Amino acid sequence: MESLPDVKERKVEGKHDEPLLRVENLKKYFPVKSGFIFERTVGYVKAVDGVSFEIRRGETYGLVGESGCGKTTVGKTILRLYDPTEGDIILDGVNIAKLSEKELLPYRTKMQIVFQDPVSSLNPRMTIGNMLSEPLLFHGIAKNKSEARKIIAKLLEEVGLKAYHVDRYPHQFSGGQRQRIAIARAISVNPSLIILDEPTSALDVSVQAQIIKLLRKIQDEINAAYIFISHNLALVRFISDRVGIMYLGRIIEEGNADEIFENPLHPYSKLLLESVPIPDPKRKRKRKMDDTGVPSPMSRPNGCFFHTRCKYRMRICEIEYPEMVDFGNGHKVACHLFGR
Ligand code: SF4
Repeated sequence: MESLPDVKERKVEGKHDEPLLRVENLKKYFPVKSGFIFERTVGYVKAVDGVSFEIRRGETYGLVGESGCGKTTVGKTILRLYDPTEGDIILDGVNIAKLSEKELLPYRTKMQIVFQDPVSSLNPRMTIGNMLSEPLLFHGIAKNKSEARKIIAKLLEEVGLKAYHVDRYPHQFSGGQRQRIAIARAISVNPSLIILDEPTSALDVSVQAQIIKLLRKIQDEINAAYIFISHNLALVRFISDRVGIMYLGRIIEEGNADEIFENPLHPYSKLLLESVPIPDPKRKRKRKMDDTGVPSPMSRPNGCFFHTRCKYRMRICEIEYPEMVDFGNGHKVACHLFGR
């Protein structure tokens, strides 16, 4: 694997105090329907249930948790690919949570997403040039096709491809190159926020490092904020400034990436982080995450959602959901062990 630059030495300009994005009490419930002729709602999957966090320009916020914890739904709801059930999404001072599709249009260019699978996110019937020129022309960034082509040639070089790739189709590229194209499409509209949803998990390990380096380089250049969604904890630690750990639709611990990885407080965070593979054959990882008995987001237990798996559970854990406690340095945890 290609070596990665030392992130801790990397200077990020413009981490202003004023957040670029503030998410407050965000909820996204999906109705569960039943009935053959007359469909009725019999329950809700509470995929996201009261998530709050903020991100500054140039900052990377890692969002982690087991599959089904709601991290991808958080990303898609912020982008308004899903309409939120409740809560606020304040982007650059404007609450976009309840804007109509028309009102949202100017904000669409500010937020972009790079998906996990570049094969399904790129239209196989369009050349790279046609695909990339669509947003440029639609949002008026290029006045005409020839101007769009010039911009695309620069974009392709920016992401490590060649200008002559413009007339090729997605199947003519490798997986890593296709992800570079997806990144070029995301940055083409000069966004201030990019959601990276498992952007390297479909790629070979050797290519992952190149893509991470590219994402870093682009972030330094355009000062965009990233939400980095991944189950690859080693990568999350490497790329993130701050990290939020999700369990069954809620953030249960949040803080500076080093602090979270070196001193996790929540029993779930400890289990999750202990299951990170250690790249040393002589050292065994302490424990493997046991994912049996994970409650369904449709029927979560009362009290702390983690109490059915927690070896520290107390009587109160089965009755009351713990409040998030802030330890003063941005390290927050929702667990009765740390209640005040
Ligand atoms: Fe465990 Fe109780 Fe903390 Fe939940 S609140 S993680 S059950 S100790």
